[in-house]
Amino acid sequence: MARLLIIGCGGVAQVAISKCCQNSDVFEEIMIASRTVSKCDAMKEKLEKTTKTVIKTAQIDADDVEALTKLIKEYAPDAVLNVALPYQDLTIMDACLAAGVDYIDTANYEPEDTDDPEWRAIYEKRCKDLGFSAYFDYSWQWAYQDKFKEAGLTALLGTGFDPGVTSVYTAYALKHYFDEIHYIDILDCNGGDHGYPFATNFNPEINLREVSANGSYWENGHWVETKPMEIKREYNFDGVGMKDMYLLHHEEIESLAKNIPNVKRIRFFMTFGQSYLTHMNCLQNVGMLNTTPIMFEGKEIVPIKFLKALLPDPASLGPRTKGKTNIGCIFRGIKDGKERNIYIYNICDHEESYKETGAQAVSYTTGVPAMIGTAMVAGGTWKGAGVFNVEEFDPDPYMEALNKYGLPWQVSENPVLVE
Ligand code: NDP
Repeated sequence: MARLLIIGCGGVAQVAISKCCQNSDVFEEIMIASRTVSKCDAMKEKLEKTTKTVIKTAQIDADDVEALTKLIKEYAPDAVLNVALPYQDLTIMDACLAAGVDYIDTANYEPEDTDDPEWRAIYEKRCKDLGFSAYFDYSWQWAYQDKFKEAGLTALLGTGFDPGVTSVYTAYALKHYFDEIHYIDILDCNGGDHGYPFATNFNPEINLREVSANGSYWENGHWVETKPMEIKREYNFDGVGMKDMYLLHHEEIESLAKNIPNVKRIRFFMTFGQSYLTHMNCLQNVGMLNTTPIMFEGKEIVPIKFLKALLPDPASLGPRTKGKTNIGCIFRGIKDGKERNIYIYNICDHEESYKETGAQAVSYTTGVPAMIGTAMVAGGTWKGAGVFNVEEFDPDPYMEALNKYGLPWQVSENPVLVE
C-alpha cells in the first residue's frame, strides 16, 4: 500500500491518475498537485466516487524547490510521480532528495530557457563531445546518481511509452528472445485523426521542439546526426496501414546505447502526415517555433509560447480523435548462434482510450506506463538506490502489468524490416 504525490494535471497526468485509482491495492492514497489547482479538484471530483483510493489536491509551483519540499514533507508520500514538464525534472529531484522520497518521471530534463548562458556553455560542449544537438539529454539527471545512492532512494527515469515501454520491450527481448541484440528500430505510429488542420498530441512546446530539431541515431559506438526529417521510410503498421515515417533523435536511444551490450545501431522513427509537416515547416520558417523572447507591442513574448496559446489544447483532442496508434520495436540479433528478428508492439485505439479515461491514445499510452513504473517502485517490485532507466530492471512484472492495465502487446516473429 502506498501514498503517492503526483505533480502535474495535464493530458498524461489525467490518465496516470485514473489508472492509479484503478489500482487501489497499491495506491491507497494520492495527492494531485499542480500549478492550476482547479484542474486537480476537477479530477478529484470526477474520480472519487469510482475508487477506493483517497484523493487529495494541492496547488504547487514545482519550480520552487523550497515550497515543493515543504509539501512533500507535509504529505509524506512514498514516492513522487513527475508528470509536469521536463523543465521541472531537476527541481522535483532536488525536493525528493531533501524530503527523502523516491522519484519517477516520463521525460528527461530540458531547460525552459535555452538562452541561459550557464546551461548553453555545458550544452555546446556536450554537442561537440557526444555529437548530437538535441536540447534534452540524460547527463543532467544521471549526475544525481551518487546523491540518490547515498540517500538510499530510487529515481526511475522515463516510464512513459517512448521512452518507457519501448525500453522495457528491449529488456524483455534481451531476456527471452536473444543472446545479443544488434539492431533496434523503434517505430512510433500515430494513425489518429483529430480533424484539425494542425494540432499537437501532447504539449505543443515540447512536441514541436522535438520534431523540428535535427535527427540522430546511434551507430557503432557514436552518434550520427541528420537534418530534420532527412531520413524517410514507409512502413505498413498492423492496425493502421501504410504510413510515412521520419528518423528523429529520441531520448531512449541514449540510455539503451549505454545499457544494452553489443548493440550496433539504434534508430527511432515517428510517422507524420504531409499536412503536419507543411504547417510545421511554415511555422518554423516564420520564426514561430523560436524560444527566444521578442518584444511585441511593448510586451515581451516567446513565439512558441504564443503559438501554444493559439493551438488546440491537446486535452481537447480526446473527443474528436479517431483511429489507432501502433508503437513498438523491431529487434535484430542472435540466439544460439543463429540470426533472429522480432517485433514487439502495442496497438491502442483513440476512441476507446477516451471512453475509459477522457484522454486520447497519446496521453493514454504515456499515462498507463507512468502508473505502472510508479507501482513497480512504490509497491517494492523494483528496488535499488540510485538513478535508473527502466530497462535496468526485470521487465517481466512490467510487461504483465501492461496487459492488465490496457496496453496489451504482441510479439511478431520475422517482421518486415526497415531498410
Ligand atoms: P501538459 O502540458 O498537458 O501538462 C503539463 C502539466 O504540468 C499541466 O497540468 C501544468 O499545469 C503542469 N505544470 C507545468 N509547469 C508546472 C510547474 N512549474 N509546477 C507545477 N505544475 C506545472 O503535458 P502532457 O501531459 O502532455 O505531458 C506531461 C509529461 O509527459 C511531459 O514531461 C512530456 O514530455 C511527457 N511525455 C512523455 C511521453 C513518453 O512517451 N515518455 C509522451 C508524451 C509526453 P497548468 O495546467 O497550470 O499548465
